[in-house]
Amino acid sequence: MERFGQDTTFRIGGDASRVAFIDSLPTLKHEFSRVKENGEPFFVLGGGSNLLVLDSGFAGAVFKMGIRGTEIIHEDSSSVVVKVGAGEVWDEFVAWTVEREFWGIENLSCIPGTVGAAPVQNIGAYGVEAKDVIESVEVFNAKTGEVSKMTHDECSFGYRDSFFKRQGNKHFVVISVAFKLTKIPQPNVGYKDVASFFTEREIKNPGIIDIRSAIVVIRSAKFPNLNKEGTAGSFWKNPVVSNSEYERLVTLYPGLPAFPTSPGYVKVPLAWILDNVCGLKGYTQDGVRLFEKQPLVLVAQFNARAEDVVGLAKKVELAVFSKTQIQIEREVEYVG
Ligand SMILES: Cc1cc2nc3c(=O)[nH]c(=O)nc-3n(C[C@H](O)[C@H](O)[C@H](O)COP(=O)(O)OP(=O)(O)OC[C@H]3O[C@@H](n4cnc5c(N)ncnc54)[C@H](O)[C@@H]3O)c2cc1C
Repeated sequence: MERFGQDTTFRIGGDASRVAFIDSLPTLKHEFSRVKENGEPFFVLGGGSNLLVLDSGFAGAVFKMGIRGTEIIHEDSSSVVVKVGAGEVWDEFVAWTVEREFWGIENLSCIPGTVGAAPVQNIGAYGVEAKDVIESVEVFNAKTGEVSKMTHDECSFGYRDSFFKRQGNKHFVVISVAFKLTKIPQPNVGYKDVASFFTEREIKNPGIIDIRSAIVVIRSAKFPNLNKEGTAGSFWKNPVVSNSEYERLVTLYPGLPAFPTSPGYVKVPLAWILDNVCGLKGYTQDGVRLFEKQPLVLVAQFNARAEDVVGLAKKVELAVFSKTQIQIEREVEYVG
């Protein structure tokens, strides 16, 4: 058995039968032919920042994605297309783009994990989503052994969702991602926290470095320190409800915020519900708690068990349902 759960950002959960480091396409192909031959279950691991490995661990092969490389494949006077290996660290890539003043992902600074996982859950923060800049995704199809390029539309991105997350598509392994970034400054500072950061400091025209620095400050006040406690960030997605459902809820809970998504639907902040409707902010049980500064984030002491996290999560899901009739959906994936 080899370490698995302890190497995720939760630092919780059992081991895997084996872990193989994937640093090239030939290694990936070799490892997949091995699991195919043995009928062995597999799991593709990035940085382990969106997972909860169960206490029983994983009876199968874990492929730790380590394919590197950052290359400009197209450049003109106003834009660049950069192809990045799936095993590159996401935030190192963001820093690379900021240094060169390539605009588009500065608001996604400091999100843990790898580049290969960014299209999987279409990472997002502060008014920007990975889908806004992803041009194409290169994938290895573990069933056929073929490598192909998926266009932006073929990835069928949604809110923290994509083709790769859906049932039956787990055999598609992301090996690189092509991002289209702009050289023309496009500050995206409309999101509340970012806007007030610059207003308070009287900064009128923030540059790309200012925006990255602002995100670093905002996020460090909002998320726990990964060196001290375990977490996988937001544990649930914010619910999206119809306008009529929202009318029902806001009558019950005046002040419930809403953000329009697609026509006829709004997104409601789950953190507000957990705090103002369920009174759960800071709630602690068996060494696991809803983070005081952002109750959407579950935080666990390093000696907590996956079972404790699952237990608290169930309690929260039931509490939200009984008050709102909303069945909240997990963002964090259980493995094992
Ligand atoms: C403190 C903290 C803050 C966070 N903040 C945010 C945030 O602001 N916004 C946000 O969207 N997320 C956030 N997250 C969640 C997390 O960082 C992202 O989901 C990230 O993209 C996960 O990357 P990873 O490499 O760690 O993926 P993992 O957790 O290793 O894997 C996640 C999923 O992607 C799959 N996967 C990984 N790599 C590949 C690949 N190459 N090919 C195919 N499938 C693959 C895995 O099989 C798994 O299903 C946060 C997490 C933490 C701990």
